[in-house]
Amino acid sequence: MTKQAYQKETNELMKDFLTAPEGLSQSEAKQRLQENGLNLLKEAKKKSSLTLFLETFKDAMVIVLLIVAVVQMVMGAHVESIVIFAVLLLNSIVSVIQTKKAEGSLDALKKLSAPDASVLREGQEQSIPAKEIVTGDIVILEAGDYVPADGRLLEAGSLKVDEGMLTGESTPAEKETVSLNNHAPIGDRINMVFSGTIVTYGRGKFLVTAVGSNTEIGQVAGLLESTTEQKTPLQRGLEHFSKKLSFAILILSLVILGVQLLRVFLDGSTDMTQDIVNAFMFAVAVAVAAIPEALQSIVTIVLSLGTKKMAKQHAIIRKLPAVETLGSTSIICTDKTGTLTQNKITVVDHFLADGQSGEFSNDPKQWQADEQRLIEISVLANDATISEDGTKLGDPTEIALIDYSEKQNQSYRELRKKYPREAELPFDSDRKLMSTLHTMNRKKIMVTKGGPDIVFERSTKVLLDGQVVKFTSELKERFQKQNEAFSERALRVLAFAYKEVSTDSLVLNDEEELVLVGLLAMIDPPRKEVFQAVADANSAGIQTVMITGDHKTTAVAIAKEIGIFQQGDLALTGAELDQLSEAELADQLEQITVYARVSPENKIRIVRAWQDKGKISAMTGDGVNDAPALKQADIGIAMGTGTDVAKDAAAMVLTDDNFASIIKAVEVGRNVFDNIKKAVAYLFAGNLGAIIAIVFALAIGWSNPFTALQLLFINLVNDSLPAIALGMEKAEPTIMNRQPRDPNSGIFTGKTLIAVTYRGILIALAVIIAQWIGNYQSAEMGVAMAFSTLILSRTLQTFAARSNTQTSLQVGLFSNKMVLLAILVCAGLFSLTLLPGLREVFAIPTAFALKEIGLALALATSAVLLMEITKLILVTGQEPKPNTQLNKC
Ligand code: ATP
Repeated sequence: MTKQAYQKETNELMKDFLTAPEGLSQSEAKQRLQENGLNLLKEAKKKSSLTLFLETFKDAMVIVLLIVAVVQMVMGAHVESIVIFAVLLLNSIVSVIQTKKAEGSLDALKKLSAPDASVLREGQEQSIPAKEIVTGDIVILEAGDYVPADGRLLEAGSLKVDEGMLTGESTPAEKETVSLNNHAPIGDRINMVFSGTIVTYGRGKFLVTAVGSNTEIGQVAGLLESTTEQKTPLQRGLEHFSKKLSFAILILSLVILGVQLLRVFLDGSTDMTQDIVNAFMFAVAVAVAAIPEALQSIVTIVLSLGTKKMAKQHAIIRKLPAVETLGSTSIICTDKTGTLTQNKITVVDHFLADGQSGEFSNDPKQWQADEQRLIEISVLANDATISEDGTKLGDPTEIALIDYSEKQNQSYRELRKKYPREAELPFDSDRKLMSTLHTMNRKKIMVTKGGPDIVFERSTKVLLDGQVVKFTSELKERFQKQNEAFSERALRVLAFAYKEVSTDSLVLNDEEELVLVGLLAMIDPPRKEVFQAVADANSAGIQTVMITGDHKTTAVAIAKEIGIFQQGDLALTGAELDQLSEAELADQLEQITVYARVSPENKIRIVRAWQDKGKISAMTGDGVNDAPALKQADIGIAMGTGTDVAKDAAAMVLTDDNFASIIKAVEVGRNVFDNIKKAVAYLFAGNLGAIIAIVFALAIGWSNPFTALQLLFINLVNDSLPAIALGMEKAEPTIMNRQPRDPNSGIFTGKTLIAVTYRGILIALAVIIAQWIGNYQSAEMGVAMAFSTLILSRTLQTFAARSNTQTSLQVGLFSNKMVLLAILVCAGLFSLTLLPGLREVFAIPTAFALKEIGLALALATSAVLLMEITKLILVTGQEPKPNTQLNKC
């Protein structure tokens, strides 16, 4: 039996896969990619356009209409039936286009958030899209990564991998590079890693032996279900509402049918069958026109337009509901380093036990033993690298340390070559420490760096003028004072220590009884845009809370500078938070604007406390341990530079890690919700207008104000384009001066409901007056007038629907060109019905000429003008003024 990858030696595998420890060459990798394809699992196929198209004919209303059209055809009304077919066809095409468009933009977003992986190619570490990995690649793993392919481990530094998805095992598997000769089930292949599993701890390097559907997960899953579409609360609410509304409309249609049939029988018409068919057709047309079937896809389109806009603002939405929830966010719990600050870290000061501080000499030969050791530790307990082309890879804090060494003319590469790493305890934000093992002067030395408070606690000795002495309380105080002093200057401080050990490997318990060497202090200036963003958040009723792993004094200093921490606010450390009972925390929650030295568990507690107060909270995170807090938050926000696990748990990913992008995303979120409201209000007001006119005509014994065909045509013309155009409205100027939206309030709240009813009534009035005027000439003219007035007033209503508070002129007539385009298209489509040939089909009599068109236009315009004038009277002066006051929630 041929040996499997886990049973082979690594050099044998290198030969099998024609690769080397420094990885493949670029050209070889490219060729393998071309030959073997992308490293992707097969996705379930999407519905084709044809399937979607055919599915639109499954709708009960459409089926009834089709039957009616066939009956019409049989009865000789060829033109009418052809037009019904044409309208239904167009309706289906529009609906397929809308669905595909919505799908397409969601796909584009998925692509944006596809994972990357670190590979070694031609000896250089580089980040590539995980789907471009080929067999033979050497991949580097860190805590928080998703393993991008199957492979044999070449290096494993305390590597732990969660393989639950493959093995069902809940505790992470510890991985090693050992040889395995006998057959082993997947769970026991400790020298292998498998695609789709998660690195929970440590670091590793592996040789890719299988990609795509050849991986274990590829074989198990076979087909990866394409992600099920997530509906937002708003979509679900609308769906529920639409169902109820549809039911009411169906009843109304049945009543209309009943009344009409009664009339046919009572009036004893000449062509009873035709009249019955017409009555049926009209009732169905009323149902089709009044049921807002376009609503769902319009909402999806507006939501995805919002996600596109957010992507431009560096916020990638991974879960569609987040777009909406963002609009209701009232608390943003944000990391400090890199999100509020630039993450361009530079060492600016140091401190040694003898009290020495300031700049180092830049001649390493003149360094004392303490200085030498400080620099050694800072570059050895460090994973950052500078590649040959000058690209810096790694954690910015660690990059700052190697930069500092280089600046002082001590090559970090030289030190790493002289003292190679033999074992390591990787950094994690719970321990806030990192240690590595080296042989220095024939002794095994563990070097450690980490948060000063933690290192102080674990140190029992100090290196003082080259001598190891006791870490007395006096010396401890000296270090603590200096740490405080650095922190008050908003500097980030790390402490460096070492210890002689007797083993070849390291365990966590080794990080005790250390010899403290000194401190390095780093500056990390706030991002320039953050000052304004925090102020904007404040005026939008959003409280910003800083949650950081850093020291409390440093955190408060920066929080004060950027306006997060104000007089009367509180700052708490994770330890202090642990001391608080739930009630005490709830009591002080509003005052606490800085949490320092927090653990990932603290983050969950903070989010929960806010949620208990009914606040929608956003929380940022990047580490592997942040995932639960990101899931718990209403909106988990992962950093673009964060781990795959954090990104996966998050609803949104910030590609620039920038706090200001969160605030911009909130603004877009609020705008999206506004626009959906506008589009929905537009649709409902138009439908309401038509229904009132129909019911009115029926009640006073006029003929139907519209023919069935006209209703279907209006549905086609008015239901789509203008609504989508409204979805593209720019944000209202006061959008960030309002308080966050109550998440429980639906779309039809106060103002919107009033606007829909008012506009519906005005449209109905215009139509009724039009029919009344037309009726003086003939019933046909009444219908033609009613039809033209309805289509024109619904079209022009788009102007009024642009804002509930401002007129279209105030909003800016040309500020949304899509609205103008939509109106022109609607008007164009309407004019088609006046063309000879089509006129008869649309029941427009020859007498309907310029004067009548003018009249219909005048009525429609008056209705819309009244809508606009009412806004001027009612709303002007009530708009919230841009808020300069800081209003805390
Ligand atoms: P934020 O949570 O705002 O991003 P942070 O970067 O300080 O802040 P962590 O990355 O969790 O948060 O780091 C927590 C603490 O651990 C830091 O304040 C520092 O004292 C220490 N620390 C950070 N990076 C390292 C590292 N690479 N090696 C050792 N210790 C580190």
